[in-house]
Amino acid sequence: MVGRKLTLEELPPVMLALSGIAGIGPMGIYRLFQGDFVIAIVDAVAVTGFALIAWSVYVKRAVRVPSICMAFVAITAAVTSVSIKGGSQIVWMYPALVALFYLMKPKEAAVAAVVSIAIVLPVIFDGRPVGESAAYLASFGVTICLSVAFAALTAEQRRELHAASLSDALTGVGNRRALDDTLDRAIAVAPRTDAPFVLIMLDIDHFKSVNDAHGHTIGDRVLAEIAQTILGHARPTDACFRAGGEEFVIVAGASSLVQAQKLAERLRIAITELEFPATGATSPFGVTASFGLAEHRAGETRDALYKRADDALYEAKRSGRNRLHISERTASLCGTATHEALMIEDTASTNDSTVEAAGVAS
Ligand code: GH3
Ligand code: MG
Ligand code: MG
Repeated sequence: MVGRKLTLEELPPVMLALSGIAGIGPMGIYRLFQGDFVIAIVDAVAVTGFALIAWSVYVKRAVRVPSICMAFVAITAAVTSVSIKGGSQIVWMYPALVALFYLMKPKEAAVAAVVSIAIVLPVIFDGRPVGESAAYLASFGVTICLSVAFAALTAEQRRELHAASLSDALTGVGNRRALDDTLDRAIAVAPRTDAPFVLIMLDIDHFKSVNDAHGHTIGDRVLAEIAQTILGHARPTDACFRAGGEEFVIVAGASSLVQAQKLAERLRIAITELEFPATGATSPFGVTASFGLAEHRAGETRDALYKRADDALYEAKRSGRNRLHISERTASLCGTATHEALMIEDTASTNDSTVEAAGVAS
């Protein structure tokens, strides 16, 4: 626990709590020595609140409730100071207003800001030239506007960071982390829904020789184009990922094994039809891919499902590449008849390699 790194969400409440302690603590001690006990007590309450908040975020790893408490303590301390001590304390409203936007959702913060300004309004107008009071109000307004803009910018950057952390930079499809998240979610809801899902794993055949013959840049282009081909064939319920290197995974949601096999077969053919242009001394070329399919079983873990799909892919490679192989379980459940049942119309009647592909080897 000691020295642990704070998450993005944990940072604002902890930093604000610590800066609150650093800023208000010495002031409270100063008030105490001055005999200003009321403000000293307000400061002591605020510092204790800040310390509790920092502790609960850092030690208990709570965020939302401590953040709201932190916002409440900060704005209440400022409003109370202004109300009790008068105009000399108005400056504390500024950091408190900014803190609201760090700690709460923008709409919540805006409401809290307006309410707290309304509370201190009598002090702002109390015996002051109208121009000075208006300047306070205007500067509060500017503080709120800048805070809203900053909060919106931060939220957007956080969203972008989150999206980037889940996407593969080269191909734009999800990365391995996104795949794991998606599988975990699909497995978690599986018992509550009747919708099965199938893992389709595909690996480009002899991709190393593509790189060797045409260069890494062209290899990258092949990967990007295959990702686009997958996206072009995927249904809204299918999620596509690059699991690493030249291996892609489709989580075919709400899909029977037969439907997933049809999708994989269409993809297999589409990939063989891609043509990559000649570059310099090399002539146009194409690629093929091998596929392993595994339907999720009740209670099956992510790793177990992944391994079955991987084993099926290995089998597709071993038995000649440019083909599909469906995980053992289907074959053993349904026997040879399944082999026929799973054959799809367009594979049964077309060229050799496709028939081979329908040879859902078992
Ligand atoms: P197999 O048919 O058995 O799958 O053979 P393979 O050559 O496709 O497989 P192997 O694992 O031997 O080689 C994979 C190659 O993929 C090696 C590596 O250079 C290449 N590769 C992995 N990631 C990238 C990438 O991001 N860009 C490019 N251009 N190549 C990559
Ligand atoms: Mg490969
Ligand atoms: Mg590979």
